[in-house]
This record gives sequence, structure tokens and C-alpha cells, in this order.
Amino acid sequence: MTTVYIPDPVESLMPFATERAAAEAAGAELLLGDEHNPTIRDAEVILTTWIRFPPEEIRKLERCRLIVRYGIGVDTIDLDAATECGIVVANAPNHCVAEVADHSAALILSALRCVPWLNEQVRAGNWRAAQRAEKRMPRLSSQTLGLIGLGKIGRQVLKRMAPFGFRIMGYDPYLSAEAIRALGVEPATFEQLLREADTVSLHVPLMPTTRHLINAEALALMKPTATLINTSRGGVVDEAALIQALQEDRLLGAALDVLQQEPPAADNPLLSFDPLRVILTPHAAASSDEVLGDLHAEVTTAFRALLAGQLPPSVMNPTVRPKQPLRPYGG
Ligand code: NAD
Repeated sequence: MTTVYIPDPVESLMPFATERAAAEAAGAELLLGDEHNPTIRDAEVILTTWIRFPPEEIRKLERCRLIVRYGIGVDTIDLDAATECGIVVANAPNHCVAEVADHSAALILSALRCVPWLNEQVRAGNWRAAQRAEKRMPRLSSQTLGLIGLGKIGRQVLKRMAPFGFRIMGYDPYLSAEAIRALGVEPATFEQLLREADTVSLHVPLMPTTRHLINAEALALMKPTATLINTSRGGVVDEAALIQALQEDRLLGAALDVLQQEPPAADNPLLSFDPLRVILTPHAAASSDEVLGDLHAEVTTAFRALLAGQLPPSVMNPTVRPKQPLRPYGG
């Protein structure tokens, strides 16, 4: 019998009723366990949230045909090794796009309107003093917003922010200038965007080519009055370089949902900045009441496709040659 295995069943996703029903309907069994359970090597299908799959772990998965991640980002799984081993890697591509875009918009607005700081000041009895923060609050329509990555989330952020009247620049090396212009965005080079944007918002996957995309060099190009927003992955930003730029007042602020180490160490300097400079949320951009149902549905769709002899709808390593031939999704 085919085994669908969840090595890291997280509490909020229990009891995996959708997955169990789909597995049983396809004549497979669903097993839950921890990462040390030996069945991980026997599973044809692995559904995972947080376990890391470096090349050496992937090469041990002799029976595995599919790994599906409960999420959009698949940076926990080495895609090259999976491809080399004929293992298809899929994700849940759409379940939290709206939430992450909403959260990115909330961070952009919170930073520009100083909401967390003003809230703190009122509670501390500083009502009048806090009213004199005009200089920190530019009119939004006088500002330039730079979006790095114009995929599903970047485009939804664009849709949410456009009505405020920002000048919006975009950088995405996988889209032509015409395609970017067609979205209503001013196409820019990476350097141009960093130089001109007052707010830079990151919407790229974490991959070898985007690790530390925002490094000391990139930060040096940004205006000292600019703010960096990150809801993508902590590894996209060189956190030490960011902290240094903030400490040396070469960058005004940052609003971050994701960090290099989550949760952060108690002595992470980002925690000691005033909320006028740094706003932090606990990798919560994807959260909403509705998101979990959609997450179960998308992961289930992915493995049900494979059990029916098809590729999942969202394959993250499209050059893979599956161990057994698979028809296109829906074919
Ligand atoms: P997507 O694949 O639809 O879009 C990513 C875009 O980034 C693509 O258009 C791609 O061309 C572009 N890109 C790739 N490399 C780039 C580079 N070097 N510079 C600029 N653009 C580049 O993905 P998405 O659905 O928009 O999600 C983006 C990321 O958001 C995910 O990979 C994930 O890491 C992150 N995310 C975070 C949370 C959270 O809870 N904070 C939740 C979901 C997703």
C-alpha cells in the first residue's frame, strides 16, 4: 500500500482529516510521526511543514516520489538534489497570497504612519509630544515604493498600495520591462530601485540566487531615509549588514515579518530598536482564520494528483524526471 507520510505534523493542522480522506479514497494510508520515525524512508509521498531536506537526507529517500511543503516557500528542501533523485517537489501556491499581501501593506503603512510608535507614546502618556512627529510622516502620494519580486504576492501588494498614490517601481529579472509596465509599474534595475525608493518591499523566494540579496552593498545604495519591508524570508537579507546600517543611521527603518533566526535570540539588536525605526512581527504574515482550510486543500490536491498518475499543479522543480512517468496535471 502507498504510504503518505507527515513526519512533522504541526498542532494547528491536526487532525489532517482532508489528507486522510483523500489518501484512503486513493487506496493509500496516511501516517503521522516525528522526523526520526523510520517510515520516512518507506514513504512514497512526504507532506512536510518545517523539516529541512538537505541533499544527504534527500538521497536516503529511496522510495519517495513526491515531497509537498505546507507553504509557498520550499527553501527547506534542496531542489537540485530532489531533481537529481527524480523526486517531484510541490507547494501550496495560493493559500496565503492575500494574507501576505495584506500584511505587507500593513507593515508599509505602519512604518510610514509610525503606528506602533504612536500607539506606544499614547500609552506612555506622551500624547502631545507624539503629535509632533510630522517630520517622520510623509504624505504617501509623495513617496516611491519599490517592489522587488513581482510574482503572486508582489502583484497583490501592488494592487493594495496603488490607490494610495505612490510612485511604484518594480524589479523582477524574470519579467520583461514590457510585462512590468503592463502591470502599471515602472520597470527598474535593482540598483535604480534601491537608489530611488523610499520604501523597498521584498517578495522573492529564498534560493541560492536571492540569499543575502539585500547585503551591505545593496543597503549602501538605499536612501538614509528609506525603510526596508521583508515578508519573504529572513535569509534574503544579510541581517548583520541591516543592523549595522540601522545603527549607523544609513537606513531609517525596517519592518520585518521574517528573520534569519526564528524566533530571534534575546540579544538580537533588532529587538532593541525603537518601533519608530524597527517593527517586528513573528512570521505571521500568512495567518488568517480561513488560510488553514485552503492549505489542507492545496496540499491534498498535490498528492492526490500524483496518486492518480499526474504531476501536481504547482511543481517547484519543473525539470525533474519523475521516477514513474506522470501525465500533466488534469490530463
Ligand atoms: P512567486 O513565485 O509567485 O513570485 C516570486 C517572484 O520573485 C517571481 O516573479 C520571480 O520572478 C521573482 N524573483 C526571483 N528571483 C528574483 C530576484 N533575484 N530579484 C527579484 N525578483 C526575483 O512567489 P510568491 O507567491 O509571490 O511568494 C514569494 C515568497 O514569499 C515565497 O517564496 C515565500 O518565501 C514568501 N512567503 C512568506 C510568507 C510569510 O509567512 N511571511 C508566506 C508565504 C510566502
